[in-house]
Amino acid sequence: MPKNKQLLPILPGQTIGIIGGGQLGRMMALAAKYMGYSIAVLDPTPHCPTAQVADHHIVAAYDDMDGIKELTRLSDVVTYEFENVDVEAAAYIETEGKLPQGTYALEVTQNRQREKELLKHLDLPVPQFYHVNDGNECEKALEKMSFPAVIKTCRGGYDGKGQIKLQSSTDHEKAISFAEEHAPCIVEQWVTFDQEISVIFTRSTDGDISFFPIAENDHVDHILYKTTVPSSASDRVKEKAIHAAKTIADHMEVVGTFAIEMFVKGDDIFINEMAPRPHNSGHYTIEACSVDQFAQHIRAICGLRLAPVQLLQQTQMINVLGEDLDQLLHMMPTLKNGYVHLYGKAEAKEKRKMGHVTFTAQTTDELLTYVQDFEERIRQ
Ligand code: AMP
Repeated sequence: MPKNKQLLPILPGQTIGIIGGGQLGRMMALAAKYMGYSIAVLDPTPHCPTAQVADHHIVAAYDDMDGIKELTRLSDVVTYEFENVDVEAAAYIETEGKLPQGTYALEVTQNRQREKELLKHLDLPVPQFYHVNDGNECEKALEKMSFPAVIKTCRGGYDGKGQIKLQSSTDHEKAISFAEEHAPCIVEQWVTFDQEISVIFTRSTDGDISFFPIAENDHVDHILYKTTVPSSASDRVKEKAIHAAKTIADHMEVVGTFAIEMFVKGDDIFINEMAPRPHNSGHYTIEACSVDQFAQHIRAICGLRLAPVQLLQQTQMINVLGEDLDQLLHMMPTLKNGYVHLYGKAEAKEKRKMGHVTFTAQTTDELLTYVQDFEERIRQ
């Protein structure tokens, strides 16, 4: 995993390039702007969320090599806001000495099979799974598993897209045709979890790691709905989660902010997914922590020291989807306790993440009062 560190540190005044112009790129860019950096972004959509706050916008597809070369030329260091970056493009930027995050974390996290095989190799717990290349292999895998189960594409799924839950053996045919159409896939045991958590940390180029407090996540229709911090996970679970994250971070020589989603059942954890970037369940850090996941990411990729992380207040973050936007705007003039973030997306489509609102308080009662009031009003 060669990582060229010669060009670091990158200092304010220099330019950070971001592949991907969505909300994560936008919040990275804003954090970098506070510190005095310039921003270049590559994204095919004119006026995308990141372009609105960037100095340069290269309007090109993510795998357009001319666009990637132009981004690399304009930038002193390059990062990305999603894991499905073309590996050839990433390798080019790494060769130019401008990708301190390297390509290995991308190669692993953009493929569910590779991700799970690595976790098994590191002796970390994952739900039982089988890799299947066609309907036949899917049928054999299902014979070895109990229901419920889930079949997922190896590549490209997010927010519940690219997967179907298999409730019982009557879903056999459904699974087989899914495998025929979308192979390679993995068939995975459904975990009847008590709780979903995420561990978000940042690792610097010299191997320091800073952890954000573990987040507890509630999903609705496979999309993150709410994050709560501190989580109600037991100390034993937290220890296991941090141990898993450290093992992964050091093995992969992670640079930057990185997220790991896990299921919790009793005192056991099962790792579900990893993302080599800031994560939706870490947005709470903007208001609730002494340094946020985006600023810490910028520090890491620029070769700076990490800031100490402290949780300043209890917090809940709620995502705002397309169908919530009108009501949120209607509530804004009288909304006192929530910090509203909107991403500047042109079209408010149903289920599309348009923004989020973070609530903070010194006590749980106070926090729950704010959030309950918000939830009642946004559904009106
Ligand atoms: P994923 O795209 O794998 O992150 O899945 C999205 C959501 O689906 C997760 O956050 C869980 O709520 C649910 N899910 C996915 N896989 C499983 C599983 N094996 N067991 C239980 N829930 C799952």
